Amino acid sequence: MTLDRRQWLKGLGGGLLGAGSGAWATRRAASDAPVRPKKDPAAAGSLRLADFRPRSMLHVARTQVARARYPVIDVHSHLGWTARSEKGVAFGEDVKLLITPEDALAVMDRKNVQAMVNLTGGTGRGLERSVAAFDRAAPGRFFTYTEPSYGRFLEPNYPQIQADAIEAAGRAGAKGLKILKTLGLYLREALTTGPLVRVDDRRFDPMWEACAAADMPVWIHVSDPEAFFLPIDAENERYDELGKHPDWSFHGGDFPSHRELMEARDRLFARHPKTRFLALHVGHDAENLGFVAESLDRFPHVSVELGARIGELGRQPRAARRFFDKYQDRILFGTDAVPPPDGEKYPQQVFKDELYEIYFRFLETEDEYFDYAPAPVPPQGRWCIYGLGLPDSILKKVYHDNAARLLGLAS
Ligand SMILES: [Zn+2]
Repeated sequence: MTLDRRQWLKGLGGGLLGAGSGAWATRRAASDAPVRPKKDPAAAGSLRLADFRPRSMLHVARTQVARARYPVIDVHSHLGWTARSEKGVAFGEDVKLLITPEDALAVMDRKNVQAMVNLTGGTGRGLERSVAAFDRAAPGRFFTYTEPSYGRFLEPNYPQIQADAIEAAGRAGAKGLKILKTLGLYLREALTTGPLVRVDDRRFDPMWEACAAADMPVWIHVSDPEAFFLPIDAENERYDELGKHPDWSFHGGDFPSHRELMEARDRLFARHPKTRFLALHVGHDAENLGFVAESLDRFPHVSVELGARIGELGRQPRAARRFFDKYQDRILFGTDAVPPPDGEKYPQQVFKDELYEIYFRFLETEDEYFDYAPAPVPPQGRWCIYGLGLPDSILKKVYHDNAARLLGLAS
């Protein structure tokens, strides 16, 4: 148990004082006009799913964790991105910055976030701009990553061009390479048309090797929640989410299955043992920790990160706790944070104090049944989560030490 007596009493007091404590409380506060079914018994059962906002009647501890117990490195954020993209493929070097370093630092300082890794730093001049705006403005607080120049994919010497671009990005201050799910799900032979390019396509081999040579780790996002590959129907547990973001569905068409994507990823990992990979979103399969564990056992050069998946981990707290125990040296803290207003479209990722407080509560406390995102309706699926109550020794590693090692920072 990690709550001290004062926190415990506070939580208990909150529970005794009102049924509004705990999960769903934020939900009630956020909706000014609660929807009530008509008194007419004939109307019972006719409530629309979108109007269903149940409040938990549980009287349980509710701990606010305003600051992380140890300094945090958030290894997964998007403080800017490439300005132009078409059908999921980014073009050109212009970047749009989503926040100033001052505004980001204000949140970070309040929450005890020591540093943030900005993954979508762009390429070429855009990368230089990202590095100047963040890394140079506040040294040690921001680390920017570069991305592949997919816009040059059709040039005859692309594999070498891309390998050289990695080296140049390293010199320009990029700390690593970020791969969005563009590779495997959006990039096509003629960029936005033609057959999809596979995750393990050989044309990228020089890029992965250049990362190893330049000692730049690769943060990679392959595939998505398993439900994104299924029909958007009454059985889909992410029905609300896919309804809001139908473009996130990879069901049908010529999309590979989740399993095929994982197999391509595994071939990639196997072929590049000297490249250090961080498999984002809990190894791309937070619903299947057994599979993620197998991947980690098979590939010692791979670690995982938590971004936007505490909803998955927190609904299987016992399996998740065993996972953290076993792989405590290979799990990194990340949120996939996107500053508002862009981030408001994805409440599980919106860069603000409440988001961090939920992550800290999940990792540090044994609170039960609470919201995994600051939103009136759970945005990724209609369930709540349970805290892991990690011991200090594991917290320090997940919050900071594992990331510091992978980023090559002196701890
Ligand atoms: Zn992300």
